[in-house]
Amino acid sequence: MTAKILVSACLLGDRVRYDGADNSVSNDWLQRWKEEGRLVPVCPEVSGGLPIPRPPSEIQGGNGEDVLSQQASIVDIHGRDVTREFLVGAEQALATAQKYGCRFALLAARSPSCGNEQIYDGTFSGALIPGAGATAALLKQNGIQVFNQAQIVALAEQLKD
Ligand code: SF4
Repeated sequence: MTAKILVSACLLGDRVRYDGADNSVSNDWLQRWKEEGRLVPVCPEVSGGLPIPRPPSEIQGGNGEDVLSQQASIVDIHGRDVTREFLVGAEQALATAQKYGCRFALLAARSPSCGNEQIYDGTFSGALIPGAGATAALLKQNGIQVFNQAQIVALAEQLKD
């Protein structure tokens, strides 16, 4: 059976970002996987109940793993705590990945939900720190390999195995 890939909906052109825009990526591999019916789109922030557009949010006090263990929180730029919405979205993304048997995810870099290697540091200054967003961290904890849009070739290599 063709392996399914969980993918950030914004990478496929869905205008679900906080600012109502997308992160559309033009890539031959992505197009091929789309035609093969492999892609399972999710937007954790929208499925967690947040609107489009919405104020930007960042993790404060740690990274996505810390959010999952209740050691850090996620707040929007106005100071509203949106941790619960992010956690609901993360759980729904994991449930979708498990429903479709996804062993791989292709998620948007640097998002407090979807970032796989770097996130913003919680000061809304544009500064980055190492770490994953809440959804990416939960997927990783459940054995799903998470790639970002700059790592599509590496994901394609994994899919050959
Ligand atoms: Fe894209 Fe993920 Fe942000 Fe949704 S939560 S807009 S899928 S980066």
